[in-house]
Amino acid sequence: MVKINPQRLKTSLTELADLARTPEGINRMTYTKAFWDSCKYVTQLMEDAGMTVRSNAVGNVVGTYPGKTQRKLVIGSHIDSVPNGGMFDGCLGVMAAIEAIHTLHEQGIQLEHSVDVVAWAEEEGVVISGLMGSLAYCGLPLTPIQLEKIGDYHITLEDIQACKVQEPVDYSLELHIEQGGVLDQTKEDIGIVTAIVALKRYRVVIEGVANHAGTTPMPLREDALVKAAAIFQRMSTLVQEVDPEMVGTIGHVEIEPNAVNVVPGKVSMIWEFRAVKEESLEIAFERLKGEFQDIIASITPIQYERAYHMDETAMEVIEQASKELGLRTRKMPSGAGHDTMCLAQITRPGMIFVPSVGGISHSCKEWTHWEDVTNGANVLVNALLKLDQQSQ
Ligand SMILES: [Zn+2]
Repeated sequence: MVKINPQRLKTSLTELADLARTPEGINRMTYTKAFWDSCKYVTQLMEDAGMTVRSNAVGNVVGTYPGKTQRKLVIGSHIDSVPNGGMFDGCLGVMAAIEAIHTLHEQGIQLEHSVDVVAWAEEEGVVISGLMGSLAYCGLPLTPIQLEKIGDYHITLEDIQACKVQEPVDYSLELHIEQGGVLDQTKEDIGIVTAIVALKRYRVVIEGVANHAGTTPMPLREDALVKAAAIFQRMSTLVQEVDPEMVGTIGHVEIEPNAVNVVPGKVSMIWEFRAVKEESLEIAFERLKGEFQDIIASITPIQYERAYHMDETAMEVIEQASKELGLRTRKMPSGAGHDTMCLAQITRPGMIFVPSVGGISHSCKEWTHWEDVTNGANVLVNALLKLDQQSQ
């Protein structure tokens, strides 16, 4: 059982945060000065931990800790933030991964696998679009938006290609804050992620008749917003009936003409469904559509992301490592997207969650207790050691 240095991890997380701290929160959007300063800091820490580092205009920072063979394990996360974000989202996974290797290095432990510790750029997608660094690292195609915009940041296609990991990767691990309130509420220490949920979004239009709000008597109105109101209520009860682990949200609504003195003539909204079970997405959508077919003018599918299931062996070693450390675990899906979605397409992935106080993230109020930070990093390093022993 290896133990990381909690004080050193706390210092590195705090110093990294200080490079991007503003009164409103952490502002480390990709390709800003704070981002590049942070990349430099991450590079220095990786070198101190015994790694050789490569990086380029894409903004991925990759530290390699050489092993006895050419086979590879990958651990990491992202350091870019949303505007006014928190200091743990992504950064925890990167700093804990560096700390894990630093611990192995100072204890003279060389692994069978070489380990890449990676800070993937542009995970949040607020500058170009999401998961760009991990797509490039995994050699997966960039999205059309990404290809269109990279030039604005002096990134070439050669830079993208140079990011691709050359060796076969046996496993990947990402430590991340939960970003939800489950672990905080149940007082469990470690979340073993089973899958990153699938997602479907639809644009749904309800039509009425726009008319004067003073002169149109109530019985003669066809108010699109009044018709739509029942859907907002029903979404939240229906998804729970279909699948208790599923979530459904109507987070975007547009009213036309959206004027105080006009009866709403048109409401356009986005239905979002997320669940591990893809069939749940279908069932919930069909049922909601069916219940309101009389008032729905049109439905257009606008986005689909498949589910990504974590590897059984990776989940097992996370569980074993947690048990040996005396930590309580819970198997749970991830409702948010992560860099691991890309890793899942080239290797066997695992993800470790630690509690977020109050379930808050993407906010300056985001917090994770230092004890949980230490627990997560200890699980990471010991799960890594166990994966290193897996024969292929
Ligand atoms: Zn994140």
